[in-house]
Amino acid sequence: MSEIGMDRRRFLTVLGSGSAVAGAGGLGGTAMALGGLFATPRVLGATDRGVLVESKAEYGGFVVEKLTSGRFPYEVDPGVLAPMREVDNVFSRNGWDPARLAELASAENVTARNLVEGEGRLPNQTRLDYALYAAAWRHASMGGSRDYEWDGIGGQVRGAGLDRMGPWNPSELGMSWEEATLATRHAALFLGASLAGVAEMNPLWLYRDIYSPTSENRERTITVHRTEDRFERTDDAWYIPESMNRVVALAFEEDFYGISNSPGRLASAATGNGYSRMAVTSSQVADFIRGLGYRALPAGNGVGLSIPIAIDAGLGQLGRMGLLVTPKYGPRVRLAKVITDMPLVPDSPIDFGVTEFCEACMLCADDCPSESVTKGPQTWEGNSVSNNPGTLKWYTEPEGCYDFNGFSCSNCKRVCPFNKPNNSWLHRMIRGMIEGRLVTADKAMVKLDQASGYGKQTDDTEFWSLDGSQSITAREKM
Ligand code: SF4
Ligand code: SF4
Repeated sequence: MSEIGMDRRRFLTVLGSGSAVAGAGGLGGTAMALGGLFATPRVLGATDRGVLVESKAEYGGFVVEKLTSGRFPYEVDPGVLAPMREVDNVFSRNGWDPARLAELASAENVTARNLVEGEGRLPNQTRLDYALYAAAWRHASMGGSRDYEWDGIGGQVRGAGLDRMGPWNPSELGMSWEEATLATRHAALFLGASLAGVAEMNPLWLYRDIYSPTSENRERTITVHRTEDRFERTDDAWYIPESMNRVVALAFEEDFYGISNSPGRLASAATGNGYSRMAVTSSQVADFIRGLGYRALPAGNGVGLSIPIAIDAGLGQLGRMGLLVTPKYGPRVRLAKVITDMPLVPDSPIDFGVTEFCEACMLCADDCPSESVTKGPQTWEGNSVSNNPGTLKWYTEPEGCYDFNGFSCSNCKRVCPFNKPNNSWLHRMIRGMIEGRLVTADKAMVKLDQASGYGKQTDDTEFWSLDGSQSITAREKM
């Protein structure tokens, strides 16, 4: 497909009203102000599935196809796909599944080996590395994994009296809902998210029930009820109104140099920092929404499946390693979400050739020390009870991943070519694939890129020799 160029008006027409990025509302004062913050992606042309766009700020310079008319970059089997049970994910199973408990009981204490016996001097497991790791995880659970999910109204929201003002209508400020959606996205980025998008809340991605163990019953679950209006957590059930049919998907960039140290301890520090930011920012975004008079339920890994929610919200696609691959940061992100009844305008899902590229690229599978990433084709089901069947994808083995090296690995993220977005050959290849000039990804190019040294583990001494100005935002400078 050739570049045909497209002005903003045509862009809006192609996207219809379903894209908050485009903003189908008036382009008056507020929109123009917001336009400076969220520059409209450069439009390259229409496709039979949507529109091709390019944006350094949003997509790291990749060409991206925004899918319209209800299309998604994945296939599901509606006869098989069902809401997952939280009790079946590997984190929950670590608390009750006899096989997992036996595995964990026999697992080596890697902290004792790495830190204590090594007296804090082992390469990539030094006391300095561990201190950063401990600090990074500080706010990951905000005192308990459920604590930041059910904060009701929020102290400051109540304190300021915002809770007594009723639901906000953007027309009060002469704004459209598209502009209000942009404002919400701006708030999410202001509060610490690296990426934010909006999707309709697909109930298939919500957990059917919630893992809620007690000392007497390690397998205990409580049912999630979709209700007409009740929004409450009790000891025995969760009630989430069907009117909470929007979700703000949030992604948090993990430090490039921390992940580069994988499977060293600094990779777990990068991971932990992502988890802490998930907790803090999703809680704050929820309070922003509550302050506007709407219900909000923030969550990290809980409540539902973050990856398909993020895909629906246009943040990226699923990669071979089972993680979200974003155009801007590759798989080097952590995810959170805020479910709400605020009538935000959903973004369009995107396709930028990840599936086709992963079919040729095996780097994550080649470098996975626990062989948890498959080298085979996509399938409709996996081998683990922690895999939810019914989606055509690469299923990973979460048990092996969890057990490797004390859960401190990010090798698959480190080696992924999308991890470094200014890989110019990758940009050219993806663009060629999307525009139909290339039929398949070239494995030789992938190997050539690896031969250049990119993707290899970097030593923690390299990390500590940096002056800090390259942390988190380092990618912008690459
Ligand atoms: S994090 Fe490590 S062990 Fe887990 S899938 Fe990725 S490469 Fe494999
Ligand atoms: S490393 Fe290669 S195969 Fe794995 S997710 Fe990244 S692009 Fe896909």
